[in-house]
Amino acid sequence: MPIRSRTPLLVALASVALLWAMPAAAQPYTILIKGGHVIDPKNGRDGVMDVAIADGKIAEVAASIDAAKAKRLVDAAGLYVVPGLIDLHAHVFHGTDPDAYLSNGLSAVLPDSHSFRSGQTTLVDAGGAGWRNFLQFKTNIIDTSKTRVLSFLNIVGSGMKGGPAEQDPNDMDAQLTAMRIMANKGVIVGIKVAHYNRGDWTPVDRAVEAGTDAEVPVMVDFGGHFPPLSLDELLNTHLRPGDILTHMYGHVRGRYPIVNEQGQVEPYVIAARKRGVIFDVGHGGGSFLWRQAVPATKQGFFPDVISTDLHTGSENAGMKDILNVMSKIMNLGMPLKDAIAANTVKPAAIIKRDDLGHLGVGTEADVAVLALRKGDFGFIDSSGGRMKGTQKLECEVTIRAGQVVWDLNGRAAPDWSTMPVVPQGSSALPPRRNQPQK
Ligand SMILES: [Zn+2]
Repeated sequence: MPIRSRTPLLVALASVALLWAMPAAAQPYTILIKGGHVIDPKNGRDGVMDVAIADGKIAEVAASIDAAKAKRLVDAAGLYVVPGLIDLHAHVFHGTDPDAYLSNGLSAVLPDSHSFRSGQTTLVDAGGAGWRNFLQFKTNIIDTSKTRVLSFLNIVGSGMKGGPAEQDPNDMDAQLTAMRIMANKGVIVGIKVAHYNRGDWTPVDRAVEAGTDAEVPVMVDFGGHFPPLSLDELLNTHLRPGDILTHMYGHVRGRYPIVNEQGQVEPYVIAARKRGVIFDVGHGGGSFLWRQAVPATKQGFFPDVISTDLHTGSENAGMKDILNVMSKIMNLGMPLKDAIAANTVKPAAIIKRDDLGHLGVGTEADVAVLALRKGDFGFIDSSGGRMKGTQKLECEVTIRAGQVVWDLNGRAAPDWSTMPVVPQGSSALPPRRNQPQK
């Protein structure tokens, strides 16, 4: 090789070596969400900003971040970029036990089948498991889901199996419940009371006792008492500040509604909020009525937390998903940023998981990119009544721990024509179960 041609060769080799070393430094971010309107209530962010992710964590949030620094770009212009949503009341202890309702039964749903498509990265199961079967819930669901699944442990040891199993005060043990919580702190984040219809306060008081020992809140699904027990006494005597009444806009048999027959929010309900009791939507299949929600919100009584009460009975009825429930509350007058807070920083604070519900640098990168559609929409309540609305949220992209787990329009995906030609699938994969075996 002539000497004069060596220099370009050396330069070329040096360039290759440099390029080899460069990518990590030149493209430190795995994902950059660009040009979206960031709403991050905890960090006081409300405006157009870029969000960069690296190593599964939020790496930078700034007015403008150079697109060349990221391997993957998500164009979020015209969209809202918010912390991954937290559902404080869902039912995901799915299983196949006969007659087991929401505790390893078929009425509960699988987390990943429902969470990401509506921007949710954390689902809190509300009382599916009790202290006896929590480990089954953890092994089968919590540990196998990409969604972060947390638990409000039922005060009933065997969990939410429905029927007589939920009526036995002998299976409501405060000490054993507290023991299970303390051994799983941060995953079990509260205690649930539900479906009890005898005329005493045993489950509420045992739950509060366990909650005091384990330093977690109690959520109460109240009702089914004939005659009804006093809602005033529940909210202002039995519950502590930080405890939660779910199904706030319900009017179920055996429970007083929060809006009385004169159309007024009961003064004792307003007093309970003043002393720190939390009011949660918990929409579900039978717990959200326009006849409660409309007068309550007209009087300024909006939810602290917006949740679904997701299960097979609610998802195909008026509830649908968290974005539909949030859209309902927004069409009643709650500003978008308050609805985001009610699904991010507020539930995180209630369950004492301050690492969740915000986009602080260094936190796990759970992010939802949402569209706010404007148009002529309809929303159905638990009685089947329709209310019209002009705005509706839709989820474009969900990121969980830095991974894109939902992408409605392929915003985080490269153009197909740039993809390498690689045969898909592998003979090493097991045969599909629905194909006949040869
Ligand atoms: Zn529920």
